[in-house]
Amino acid sequence: MKVTVDDDRCRGHAACWSLCPEVFTLTDDGYAEARAADVPAGFEAAARSAVDNCPEHAITAS
Ligand code: SF4
Repeated sequence: MKVTVDDDRCRGHAACWSLCPEVFTLTDDGYAEARAADVPAGFEAAARSAVDNCPEHAITAS
């Protein structure tokens, strides 16, 4: 599973980070980045929850 954050959509709500800090981190400006494109084993469900709960639909999973 891979995740990417669309910088143009992200508004820094941090929901992704609060749901799955193992996969998402926040920049100094408060916007999200994926720590790595590949989601570590065991964190797929949490990453999927972050995708589903991003209010800006900024996260893409594949
Ligand atoms: S939940 Fe969505 S809008 Fe909020 S920081 Fe994460 S990617 Fe950005």
